This record gives sequence, structure tokens and C-alpha cells, in this order.
Amino acid sequence: MPSLNLQILIAAITGLVLGALLSLVPAESELRQGVLYGSSLVSGLFIGLLKMVLMPLIFTSIVVGVANLQAHHQANRVWKITLIFFALSSSLAMLEALLVSNLFKPGAGLSLELFADATQGFQAKQLSLSEFFTHFVSGIFQNPFAALANNSVLPVVVFALLLGVALVVGGERHQYILKVLQDFLELVMRMVGWIMRLAPLGILALLVQLVAEQNLALLNAVLGFVILIFATTLFHGIVVLPGLLYLSTGRSPLWFWRGARAALITAFATSSSSATLPITLGCAEQLQVRQEVSGFVVPLGATMNMDGTALYEAAAALFVANLVGIDLSLSQQLVVFFTAMIASIGAPGIPSAGMVTMVMVLQAVGLPAEAIAILLPIDRVLDTVRTAVNVQGDLVGSVIVQRWADKS
Ligand code: ASP
Repeated sequence: MPSLNLQILIAAITGLVLGALLSLVPAESELRQGVLYGSSLVSGLFIGLLKMVLMPLIFTSIVVGVANLQAHHQANRVWKITLIFFALSSSLAMLEALLVSNLFKPGAGLSLELFADATQGFQAKQLSLSEFFTHFVSGIFQNPFAALANNSVLPVVVFALLLGVALVVGGERHQYILKVLQDFLELVMRMVGWIMRLAPLGILALLVQLVAEQNLALLNAVLGFVILIFATTLFHGIVVLPGLLYLSTGRSPLWFWRGARAALITAFATSSSSATLPITLGCAEQLQVRQEVSGFVVPLGATMNMDGTALYEAAAALFVANLVGIDLSLSQQLVVFFTAMIASIGAPGIPSAGMVTMVMVLQAVGLPAEAIAILLPIDRVLDTVRTAVNVQGDLVGSVIVQRWADKS
């Protein structure tokens, strides 16, 4: 039996090939419908299992992570290095996006008529910057039980952070609670191990569906933009992030790929950093990141640190500007930079979350929110690599944060 990592890789490639073959079969054929139905059952099961462990895992890993960090007197450094890394890596991602967009001007010369069908009757939800902020801020503190039940990651992260700090301040008196949570975390991670064994099947099913259900005609119309986004996101994932890793820890890209590929491929197939989180935490362990560091950096990164999303939103804003024939000035591009940063922090780690916050970026520089209608149909494809790079950023971050925190 090949190793799980290898099984996942083989499953991903098989899924892509099967999906491509299936897209050649006429939509009405029973074979195609049968395979797609089977795939949706299997992928639904896999995603369901990941979601089952997600909230207990986020909650316990953060509480235990924070409490253990404090015990090691490293908390201060870990906090700071984590935030510096998150800001640095997403800034680099957006700079790459702005650079290539200015260089290649995707969308310039495309006729808007082409999209008349898509944009007609489309009502984008208006979301101004201030509304977004209000929404974001009021979402931070919530009843933790409601948040746990509704899969709202951010308020659970915040509650768990505070509870972790309270545990530390309370000291010895609460050791037993910490011990219970530690044991609980171990149990949930054991369940994650079982779910991982199903990952090859789940990934295969997800990719068959993804490829077979693509609207190729639309993809063709915006092919230049799609290729540019793919290439720039891959550049960030293959050159920039591994470069940062190598420069700050001396770890090779190959070493990283070996430890991280299960999470990266799962992120690619699910398009959700949140759903991937249980597997990301398992990979952090393989990358020798201690639980107290990964338990803090990875769940926080899954909601806040999204390099792929930041890169995409900045590039997509410039693409839309080109489509409607507007030349964005340098200061307007700066606005794009900052709003795309906020948008990527605010976007939850679920499929196409970036599309919702995209409206805000467009409106910040006066671009029509209706343009989302053009981006939506191609989003499923772009979300794959973008989410993989989002997750990669969290794993690279956890390795770097550990190394730098240890140096003190
Ligand atoms: N799907 C992405 C993620 O989960 C978010 C996005 O839509 O950009 O990381």
C-alpha cells in the first residue's frame, strides 16, 4: 500500500483526468449523471466529516496553544512574529498582483458585450467599506455557543484566545481544565487521523465534479485573466513563500512539500481553508511545528492570513477596471492594496468567500459591483489554487514563527 501522501497525490491526478473525460460525455447521459451523483455523495461525506471536527478542533487547539505558549514565556514573540509574517506575506502577494496587472493589463480590449448576459439582472449586494467594517467588528464578539453551532470561525477563535489567556492568568488552580482540554484535543486529532484515510477518496470525488462541471466557453473568454491569476498565484506559492521559508529557516521547498502536500491538495480540492484546517494541523505536526505554536498560528491564519485571496482581489479589481476602460491611478491602486488586504482578512475560509468581499474592493475605487457577475462563473476554478496558497501561507508561517520564537 503506498503512503497516504502518495495516495492523495494519485487520487488528485486521477480525479482531474476522470473529470476531464467526463466533461466530454453529454450532459444527459446516465453514465455522467451517475458518476456525478456518486461523487457528490462521497465528497459530501468527506466535507461533512471535516466540518464535524472543525469547531471542536479550532476551539481546543487555540485554548491549549495559548495556555502552553504562556507557560513557555514565548507568547509575546509568537504573537508579534505571527502578525508581522501575515502582513508581510500578503503584502508581497498583492504587490505581485498589482505588478503583473499593470504589466499585462488583462481585460483591456475585451468587449463588455461579451458579458451582457452575465451582468444583466445581476444585483450585487452593496457593501461599502464602512458597512464592511461594522459587519466585521460586530462579528468578532458573539455568544460562543451560537458561534460554535453556526460554524462562525472568527468569534470562536476570539473566545478561545481569551479563555486561553484567562487560564494562564488563573494559573495552577485551573490546571485540570487545561488537562481535560489537552486530552480532548488529542482525541479529536485521532479522529482527524481516521478522516485523513478517507482523504484520497474525498479528493478524487471533489475533483471529478469540479472539472466535469466547468463552463468552458466562459473560461475561454477570459482565458488570459485566468492564466495570469494562476501563474501569479503559483509564483507566490512556488517561489515567494518557499523563498521566505528558506531565507528564514534554511528549510528546502522539497522538505516543505513532503510535509505539507496533504493539506495543499485538500485545500485545492475543497476550496476551503476552514474545511482543510484539521488536515493542516496534522501537516504542521509533520513539519515539526510544536502543537503550542501550530495551535495558535494555523487556526488564526485560516481566517486571517490569505495570500491567495489578497492577490486575487487586487488583480481582479484591476481586471474589472480594464474591462470597463478605467485607468486606476497610483493612489487608487493603493486603495485597492489596502482594501484587498482587509478583504482577505475578513473573508471566511469557505469556497468563494473572496467573491463577497470583492464587492467592497470594487466599490472602494468606484468600480461597478455588477462586475462580480463576470467573475463568479470562473471563481470555482480560481478558488482552487488560491485556497491552496492560503493554506500554504499558514503552514510556512507556523514553521517560520517557531524558528524565530525559539531564537530568543
Ligand atoms: N476559498 C478561500 C479559502 O477558503 C477563500 C476565498 O474565497 O478566497 O481560503
